Amino acid sequence: MSAQHDLATYVNNTFVYEDATLRTIRESTPTKGLPAISVSPDDGQFLQMLARMVQARLIIEIGTLGGYSGSWLARALPPTGKLITLEYEKHHAEVAQEHFAAAGVADRVQIVLGDAHVSLSNLVLPGAPDMVFIDAEKTGYPDYLKWAVEHVRVGGVIVAHNALQGGRVIADPDPKPGTLAIREYNRAVGANKRLQGMLYPGGDGMTIAVKIA
Ligand code: SAH
Ligand code: MG
Repeated sequence: MSAQHDLATYVNNTFVYEDATLRTIRESTPTKGLPAISVSPDDGQFLQMLARMVQARLIIEIGTLGGYSGSWLARALPPTGKLITLEYEKHHAEVAQEHFAAAGVADRVQIVLGDAHVSLSNLVLPGAPDMVFIDAEKTGYPDYLKWAVEHVRVGGVIVAHNALQGGRVIADPDPKPGTLAIREYNRAVGANKRLQGMLYPGGDGMTIAVKIA
């Protein structure tokens, strides 16, 4: 085993508490016809911690899948808080709905079915989001970022999953559109004076930005 693998095991064993319900949600998602692309347990815990750090009451998630990351996020919310999560595959939304009930957060979660770009432009927000988590199609990230910068509150956080693209953000001489879009996303965060950003390099990377103006 590589030192990197050993360190990841150490970090997981020391910090990450995925309970039996979350584990079942993660493990059963690919058995229900959904792709095995949920965030990892350590990403889930990190997302939940970020939500707690901004004392999130309203979170927008773009890309629901089976509701694994959404369950971590929603559990950070107070009883009156809300996670609005966007998904265009009906079957994914149905599975996620079951999983949100299992996680005990169905009362705090609203799944909006449809293309996220359309849903976002039609969304009637109950207030400014404290957090936006972006994890849908990679080519959409730059547009999702524009929406997030406009709508998240100052002091709120914008997180993008798969920010390293398996390393292809730097080492790909013939990048696919998704990789080009993630490069553009990262560049746009780094260059935006309204944001302070950093790329957390665990797993496939998460670009984290706080809105400062
Ligand atoms: N955040 C999830 C994983 C999301 S996978 C988790 O970790 O548990 C990406 C999801 O985004 C898939 O379910 C896919 O159907 C959805 N998706 C992709 N493009 C989309 C779009 N334009 N609008 C809405 N959903 C989209
Ligand atoms: Mg992802």
